[in-house]
Amino acid sequence: MGITKTDFMRGMQCPKMLWLDRHKPQFRVIPPETQARLDAGNDFGDKAMAMFGPYEEMTVYRPGTAIPDKKKMAQKTQLHLLLGTPVICEAAFINYNNYCAADILKKNENGGYDFYEVKNSPEMKEQFIKDAAFQYYIMNRCRVKIGRVFIVLHGPDEENPFLPAEITREAVALVPWINDHIWDLNNIKKQKNEPDTRPGNQCTCPYECWYREYCSGERTDTVTQEQIRMTIPGE
Ligand code: SF4
Repeated sequence: MGITKTDFMRGMQCPKMLWLDRHKPQFRVIPPETQARLDAGNDFGDKAMAMFGPYEEMTVYRPGTAIPDKKKMAQKTQLHLLLGTPVICEAAFINYNNYCAADILKKNENGGYDFYEVKNSPEMKEQFIKDAAFQYYIMNRCRVKIGRVFIVLHGPDEENPFLPAEITREAVALVPWINDHIWDLNNIKKQKNEPDTRPGNQCTCPYECWYREYCSGERTDTVTQEQIRMTIPGE
């Protein structure tokens, strides 16, 4: 697989982080509070699938695992686009091996789809817009007619917490920037040699890096690939 939205966001924070994800993921250390936040985000995302009523979910797992089968998900998505399914969740797309799975696509009055990226956060962040823009870029290259782009924030009303905020203009404006970097990140992910990136501000901004012990030479134990795949949120 080429670059996923997670790869893109992590690679733009630090190329070495992307490379380690591909070549040495056993050295990740995810703090329990981070894992709890990721789990809460996944729960919020699962509930948001029903925010527009009945929906079709595209998630397909490899037999006997909790690992998404991206190719089968993309095939299933194409089928539902052809059928004109009104609400498609985890809609998967592959373009030159680059991949995204959009949280929610909702059919609009122009015959295309509006895209909703769900974030379990009360406020908008720059990273959310970049994340959604990456997916917009992939869907555009897959010739999906995307109309408006929204981030669904966690609003104050717990009875109905899904609060869409439109970011179409910002997402469209980021397309050239994504195209400028996605192919370099593909090369970094595939290269044999570990990038010689020194620790710096990128280790904590915008997110705390999970390889800090490795890069400081402290980490020696390992976990299995299956544990890693089970832990990391969907791409
Ligand atoms: S600890 Fe810092 S240098 Fe090492 S991979 Fe993470 S961000 Fe990059």
